[in-house]
Amino acid sequence: MKCALITGGSRGIGRAICVKLAEQGYYVIINYKGNEAAAIETLEAVRAKGSDGEVMKFDVGNEAEVQAVLGTWVEQNKEKQVEVLVNNAGIREDNLMFWMNTAQWTNVVNTSLNGWFYVTKQILNNMLMKRYGRIINIVSLSGIKGMPGQTNYSAAKAGIIGATKALAQEVAKRGVTVNAIAPGFISTDMTAELNEKELAAMVPMNRFGKPEEVAEAVAFFASKGSSYITGEVLSINGGLYT
Ligand code: NAP
Repeated sequence: MKCALITGGSRGIGRAICVKLAEQGYYVIINYKGNEAAAIETLEAVRAKGSDGEVMKFDVGNEAEVQAVLGTWVEQNKEKQVEVLVNNAGIREDNLMFWMNTAQWTNVVNTSLNGWFYVTKQILNNMLMKRYGRIINIVSLSGIKGMPGQTNYSAAKAGIIGATKALAQEVAKRGVTVNAIAPGFISTDMTAELNEKELAAMVPMNRFGKPEEVAEAVAFFASKGSSYITGEVLSINGGLYT
């Protein structure tokens, strides 16, 4: 059975990715941190596409929990090969550096960057053994350009971009590709309190993107058709370049 694991699949961009990969026929594993009701809604949307899946609760930034929940699942579900891993879970805790405290720095870096490492470690070995895999990392325009008020978030996302490029070269011979997608402003809970009208005016397309517009590109990187693309970072930002 071909499976896709999406971290932070309960809401926003992650949910749209789960639904899109369900459409492509994947059994979808929907990771979430705390919002079980939202994760179950995503599972219902996956089933509405005629596919199936399961919800899986763990905090990507907690190594012991990732090992206990995801590691055990991998051990006990040998027939369910995770072919596609989408590292999507992420948070923001914005502040200017002058006011940023250690917790704000650590929380954001730990969830995005350490979480990327903890989750990918659990999945990569089987991909290498099967000589096939697709790892897709959701980063951000902030990780390319840097955003004032987001030193923590920009550093975490830039870190994942570096890891994407390094790992891509390590595993290319084994049929595993590693790519990143860098969204600009996308309408989700994460951007709900931003002034959309004001910020959209900076975007050449004059609007925020939709989670489904990110999911389309994830589906391409997840597909067999993307087989000669690795170590890339694709921007999805309505033309909002640096
Ligand atoms: P969102 O609506 O806030 O959803 C966040 C998702 O991540 C939720 O499913 C949440 O689970 C999960 N999550 C958060 N911390 C987690 C943890 N420690 N362990 C496991 N799951 C965790 O965010 P979004 O806008 O869809 O963002 C998704 C990704 O895209 C993030 O990496 C974000 O940085 C990136 N991104 C977003 C934008 C944007 O404009 N929205 C732009 C660029 C990049 P619960 O439901 O359980 O809380």
